[in-house]
Amino acid sequence: MGNHAPAQPCATTSWRDRAACRHADPELFFAPDDETEQARAAREAAAKAVCSDCPVVSDCGDFALGRRAKTGIWGALTERERENLLRRIRRARRRQATA
Ligand code: SF4
Repeated sequence: MGNHAPAQPCATTSWRDRAACRHADPELFFAPDDETEQARAAREAAAKAVCSDCPVVSDCGDFALGRRAKTGIWGALTERERENLLRRIRRARRRQATA
């Protein structure tokens, strides 16, 4: 997560040094307050293109999911995609617990 501003907590993680985004513009990964839907779609697509070549995509995604990262693209997933994934995981766990 080279330039990922909120990634400072992971500065000690070894995978961070191999992040494809370490030299990318951090603004690609985090939405400004006044971002339009169209701008968001373009920014997210550009960020995901960086993630698509990242050798640590799983580490990054696990890190964000484990910390319930509320903002930013991590592991090639947007905030909304992470929320949906976590919801599916919770639902599956509830089903397993009641089975
Ligand atoms: S998966 Fe994306 S956000 Fe995460 S380290 Fe790689 S390039 Fe950066």
